[in-house]
Amino acid sequence: MIRVRFAPSPTGPIHLGNARTALFNWLFVRHNGGVFILRIEDTDVTRSDPRYTQLIMDDLRWLGMDWQEGPDVGGPYGPYVQSQRLPIYQDSAEKLLEEGKAYPCYCTQSELEERRKAALARGRPPRYDNRCRNLSEAEKKAFEAEGRKPSLRFLVGSGPATIPPGEKLVFEDMIRGKLEFNLSVLGDFVIMKADGTPSFHMAVVVDDALMKVTHVIRGEDHLSNTPLHILLFEALGFPRPRYAHLPMIAGEEGDLLSKRAGALSIQDYRRQGYLPEALVNYMLLLGWSPGQKQEKIAPEKAVEKFDIHHISKSPAHFDPKKLDWLAEKYLRQADPERLIELIVPLLPEGAKRIERTKLKALVEAVRPGLPNLSQVVKESEWFFKEPVLDEDKIVTLSSDKSQIVLTHVLKTLEELGEGFVHVYNNIIQPLAEKGGLAPKEVMMPLRLALTGSTHGPELVAVISLLGHEGCKRRLRKLIAQIGRLNKNEINILKKT
Ligand code: GLU
Repeated sequence: MIRVRFAPSPTGPIHLGNARTALFNWLFVRHNGGVFILRIEDTDVTRSDPRYTQLIMDDLRWLGMDWQEGPDVGGPYGPYVQSQRLPIYQDSAEKLLEEGKAYPCYCTQSELEERRKAALARGRPPRYDNRCRNLSEAEKKAFEAEGRKPSLRFLVGSGPATIPPGEKLVFEDMIRGKLEFNLSVLGDFVIMKADGTPSFHMAVVVDDALMKVTHVIRGEDHLSNTPLHILLFEALGFPRPRYAHLPMIAGEEGDLLSKRAGALSIQDYRRQGYLPEALVNYMLLLGWSPGQKQEKIAPEKAVEKFDIHHISKSPAHFDPKKLDWLAEKYLRQADPERLIELIVPLLPEGAKRIERTKLKALVEAVRPGLPNLSQVVKESEWFFKEPVLDEDKIVTLSSDKSQIVLTHVLKTLEELGEGFVHVYNNIIQPLAEKGGLAPKEVMMPLRLALTGSTHGPELVAVISLLGHEGCKRRLRKLIAQIGRLNKNEINILKKT
């Protein structure tokens, strides 16, 4: 039975990179069958916060992922929060100590740091020099008498004969193929800290072993940890899982995108009104491709096609423009009823009570070309409040041609009553015939007058959304404003 886990540390909201790791684990299990475990790695008490655990779970669910074992759903190998498993790590550490595979180390943080710096200054690798490996009982007692609390180090080379000291450790990565590590560069590493909590390595290995994880799929930033983990698995007598290290995500300027730097958090995308399926689609292109240059793919199709061996070895490139390009497609196709629910919290105060049918028409008219709902709201500003035109725009609209357009449209609306306005028949054609105006010369000033902008949704939608009364009010106001300007003022404005 395949068992995978996503193991975030609740030190902040999850970012695109972490969410992609979760997604590839989820796709792997969905494609092959098996169990997806969510495990919270909160042994770093100073940086962890339970609020983030909840946030991470909310974000993963929002993205459409589910897990069969985890902090909230339980499971046979719980608890699934590391801070609740301390006795379990202590038991394993005890076992290693008894078997002579671990030993207490009395070096203090400042001593270690000093030696590290000295080694670097001499051009040596800054690894631990294993000096506490062979302390006598008397030496240990003396250190303890000084009040030093020992950490516990794993004795590299104490594992089973499969990896003799000084040999290369070899493993097959499902993405990167056969990898070799030279163990002679490795110092004995900490498995339990002086405060009795496990190191990251110890907690990960004990949990992966006891939770019967079969495949570890995680970011390439963990690749250098893997040899240490394999040594611990073997020393503890557990079978090692298979590994797949996902390529890093390079940021826009070639910098590495991690949860600490770079792309936005899932929370940020959510707040901006991106649709989750767009983010999921984008994330799965960060290292994987459905093939045949296909880019837009529904999650269920991705599950069907997903093959972990086809994940690329080279870094994926984070391209916000591509994300927006995909997001636009999803937004354009989304059910408007669903979008109404999502957009209401983003609306300005006072606009929240707007009629649903109006809101639906507004969203449908404004969404083309936009990647998220907060941009839809921004581009709908003209609808919620009358635009205030700056001087340049007033000058544009005060030209003779523009004034002909505005007065003609106002007259047409008055004549039509509440009848439907046909932009071509009622507006463009008469002005082309009478005033010799090209369609652009008609539409540009009209759009500017009604919305305050030279781009935006179709004019027919603008007119119908504002309603005849709304359009007439805006046109009358503007015509009056232009009328108040005398020729001199316009000339002055034109020159500035
Ligand atoms: N807690 C680690 C992290 O957030 C993941 C450890 C792992 O996947 O082995 O980077």
